Amino acid sequence: MLKKILTCFSLLLVLTFSATVYAKPAELTGINAFELDNETVRIEISYRGQLDASDISSEFSLENLRFDIDNALPGRVSRIAGIEIESSAKKLIEKILVNKTKERRTSIQIHFKPIFKNGNSTFHLEPADRSAKKDARLVVDVKKIVAQDDWSTANFSGEKIIVLDPGHGGSDAGAIGPTGVTEKSVSLAVSLKARNLLTQSGYQVVMTRTTDVDVAAPGVSDATELQARVDKAPPNAALFISVHCNAFSNGKANGVETYHAPTAVKGARLARLLNEELARLGGLNNRGVKAARFYVMTHSQCPASLIELGFITNPREEKLLASDDYQQKLAQAITNAVNRYFNQGGFD
Ligand SMILES: [Zn+2]
Repeated sequence: MLKKILTCFSLLLVLTFSATVYAKPAELTGINAFELDNETVRIEISYRGQLDASDISSEFSLENLRFDIDNALPGRVSRIAGIEIESSAKKLIEKILVNKTKERRTSIQIHFKPIFKNGNSTFHLEPADRSAKKDARLVVDVKKIVAQDDWSTANFSGEKIIVLDPGHGGSDAGAIGPTGVTEKSVSLAVSLKARNLLTQSGYQVVMTRTTDVDVAAPGVSDATELQARVDKAPPNAALFISVHCNAFSNGKANGVETYHAPTAVKGARLARLLNEELARLGGLNNRGVKAARFYVMTHSQCPASLIELGFITNPREEKLLASDDYQQKLAQAITNAVNRYFNQGGFD
């Protein structure tokens, strides 16, 4: 009996001792993820209480970044509450999980989407800002290292890299002509022909796809599919050209047009040259050069243009677009435009 009392007493002593040595653990109050710039995702983990950099350890493996924070509790942040992934970061982050993994340890796992193959992460602590009513924050910046599968083994020796993006593919046929010709087949055939011609002209060519496949995966969102195409471009790519066919409910609609992102000066020059060369083929109405916020253009790291080779919904143009001869001419037009882009010197 006495022994039991003594044990209880010493346990109480130990507990009292622990409480005085360890300060109250910090508590998480919210997690916010957003895109800082094209290459960086920022994750802000706000908390109340004291945290030291030495409390925090992180580990990046494949698509997962894990933070273990000692002397911290999830507080009111849970799997379902208090985590906000802004739309700009949603194309890169699959989910964020928060768990209490030990008595005084919280783990935060950030699952990136597969396109985010690997990353570098850095973090720092920012004190609370009372005037802005902001809690202290653990600020994590994750720099994207783009998936390297397509160019890591390639031996680029100073040649300019042209990225060709055959529109659609796999589960997405794109537009379909009156006799059943698919946009995805035309865009691929023309891009493969252009690859040959560009390679002969001394360029390195990276294709976002070379067969009839979805680039990300079937059934993913448009943004995920299109980002996967953007990510196929090596960091030192010189130009990004997306190849499409136009479509309209009225089969009489016809002609060629090229696009660039609204404020892109170099992209506009590329679109203009592509338009001139495509229009020069003759026979097709020239609908001109237009600005638009197409995903692959606004997200490309290099000058980009999207071209509409003609209207696949127009019976006459469908026939042209499906013909090997005309596809070869289109490929030559693309190659001529790229040559002019670099040979004319200067970038406007
Ligand atoms: Zn298209």
